[in-house]
Amino acid sequence: MTLSFRAAVLSAPGEKLRVETVETEAPQAGEVLVRIGAAGLCHTDLEVIEGQLVYPMPIVLGHEAAGTIAAVGPGVDPGRVGERVVLSWNPHCGRCFHCERGQPILCDKYVSQGPAAVAFDGTTRLSLGGQPVRTMMHIAAFAEYAIVTDACAVAIPAEMPLDRACLLGCGVLTGVGAATRIASLRYGDTAMVIGCGAVGLSAVQGARFAGASRIMAVDLDDSKLAMARDVGATHTVNARVDDPVAAVRAITGGRGADCVLEAAGNQVSLRLSTEACRVGGEIVWLGKVGVNQDVSFRWGALMGEKRITRSSYGGARTATDFPALAVSYLRGDLRLDGLITQRIALEEINRGFDDLKAGRSIRSVIVFGEAA
Ligand SMILES: [Zn+2]
Ligand SMILES: [Zn+2]
Repeated sequence: MTLSFRAAVLSAPGEKLRVETVETEAPQAGEVLVRIGAAGLCHTDLEVIEGQLVYPMPIVLGHEAAGTIAAVGPGVDPGRVGERVVLSWNPHCGRCFHCERGQPILCDKYVSQGPAAVAFDGTTRLSLGGQPVRTMMHIAAFAEYAIVTDACAVAIPAEMPLDRACLLGCGVLTGVGAATRIASLRYGDTAMVIGCGAVGLSAVQGARFAGASRIMAVDLDDSKLAMARDVGATHTVNARVDDPVAAVRAITGGRGADCVLEAAGNQVSLRLSTEACRVGGEIVWLGKVGVNQDVSFRWGALMGEKRITRSSYGGARTATDFPALAVSYLRGDLRLDGLITQRIALEEINRGFDDLKAGRSIRSVIVFGEAA
């Protein structure tokens, strides 16, 4: 059985995405076919479009998505058809050196196959006009359908709206997980979050869940700082106007924050994270800069013992994290509504990325059909 559906295809870095009709085969053993309901535009997709992150092309991007299981391959419970799911971009074998040590994000097979942008079994099955098309992060969600491994389609409550559910798949888990699982924040601690995009706003909420007594959010945009207050920041600093280091010291007895979560991804913010952290505190880096870019610090900012951790997917355990985050949203605890700046059609994807690049959006979400 061959499936045809619409997908946004990137043919070369720097080009616009084009909506094309692509083809694939039915899901194979251990796989599921997911009808995508909503997909978020993430900075990592933008890095591929701009050529900072190099993948073979043509490729279908998109790795933050939610949908409904439409069909299953051999060996998968047929009862899964109709389940509402969030997709994980971290398939892992469960048996390798890193999987055995509880670090699925470093799974040998995942890390070795990721750059090839193929299915997790190593094959390329998506095609356009008979030519192979790659699938970013084993999902390729800027399309009406995606085929993923059974374990990467994680069931969530049926009442969870898909346009908000998709955010859980990358940005929200990355931010919440960094604060609740990677950082060792304890009740009453102080936290600073630098950068109030989708990941940073989720880190603010993670710090709230961890019981941080004061959460200072830093950004260059007042509207994003207002959003940070809405989701749990107790203090905000516009770094264009005020010095974040002075501001955090003013509320921490001159010491600095117990934990700094950096989610802006640039030289200034990475350096700020080291300056704003108290002696003996910890720094968690979530943001990204170009893979060949150097970053520099003042050595004195690191004196007196500071712990630095780089986190990629918030210590993700997606099988339990996605349903837990969905329940948190449905209970009114996790705030997602304000993270969606606009809902767009697949055909508007290039404008969505223009808005992301210009900093005009927190998240643009592509909605397919009646996604809610
Ligand atoms: Zn992402
Ligand atoms: Zn593994």
